[in-house]
Amino acid sequence: MTFESIIGQDRPIRFLTQMLQKGSIPHSLLFTGIDGIGKRKTAIALGMALNCLSPVGVSACGECLSCHKVISGSHPDMITVKPAGVFIKIDQVRDVSRELRFAPLEGNKRIVIINDAQAMNLQASNAILKILEEPPRHTMLILTATQTTDLLPTIVSRCQQVAFKPIPYDKVAEVLVDLRGLEIETATTLAVLTKGSLGKALSVDGEEWTVWRSSLLEQVSSFSTRSIQPVFAFAETLSGDKDRLADALDVLMTWFRDALMYKVSPERIINKDLMDKIQHASRGQSISELLGKIEVVNSAQAAISRNSNPRLALEVMMMRLCSGQETEVE
Ligand SMILES: [Zn+2]
Repeated sequence: MTFESIIGQDRPIRFLTQMLQKGSIPHSLLFTGIDGIGKRKTAIALGMALNCLSPVGVSACGECLSCHKVISGSHPDMITVKPAGVFIKIDQVRDVSRELRFAPLEGNKRIVIINDAQAMNLQASNAILKILEEPPRHTMLILTATQTTDLLPTIVSRCQQVAFKPIPYDKVAEVLVDLRGLEIETATTLAVLTKGSLGKALSVDGEEWTVWRSSLLEQVSSFSTRSIQPVFAFAETLSGDKDRLADALDVLMTWFRDALMYKVSPERIINKDLMDKIQHASRGQSISELLGKIEVVNSAQAAISRNSNPRLALEVMMMRLCSGQETEVE
């Protein structure tokens, strides 16, 4: 878990290595960005570098006793806090505060990593703020969070922020090909649909996902306002499947986008592994029809993210998509 092993985060890594080279180590860092792009790994790599017994430049060697302990999760000066259930609670932060009264046990620095810091409840946030206000010696706090707006502004202002961007799609695809044995077209599609989150892309079973996407697209294109029952059944099932709901809407969005893109710049198609089907869909629909469908899916996504009733939003979306389909036939 050295800096070199972090994929697609060149800017944050450059920032951190320069920081180490200058020897200007802040008391607290805040790593922001979506899940699955390497924030935690980078926090561990930084802790490892700071405590490595024979660093290579400013990077950890990955081989000394200290590095081995970090890798195996047994280094006493690497403290990780993560949500216990939904929240990070005050007791968890109190445990950390207690340890911070003493000097590091083995390493030069004690590293406290607060994962998903946005999960801290108000009490826990205030306790962390106290630590940040009077930073203990030989200690670095690293908070990870999706975005700064999820945290108390007083916490954000006391941390040096390092923004992590989604990983470039080609890098995610490369890893999926290497580790999961996926075809490059499927891997690229998954990389785009998981929005550059390698963690999320790796958590997906590529084959199962391919089957699921085909069946989703097939269902949606077979619906008609002439037989409304299956449309409602579909909306009901999907709205109850919270894990898949957002993914399904993303798939539909990229599908209509691809059908549109086929007409203007086919090289930018996302679902490259479905080229034949996209060609067919694209030929059967006009640009304005496809733009209309993209808008319909977009509205459903917006409604659901505003916490509207997902089932209702899906029913409206499906009815509008179906009536669009019928117009084509007529
Ligand atoms: Zn080492």
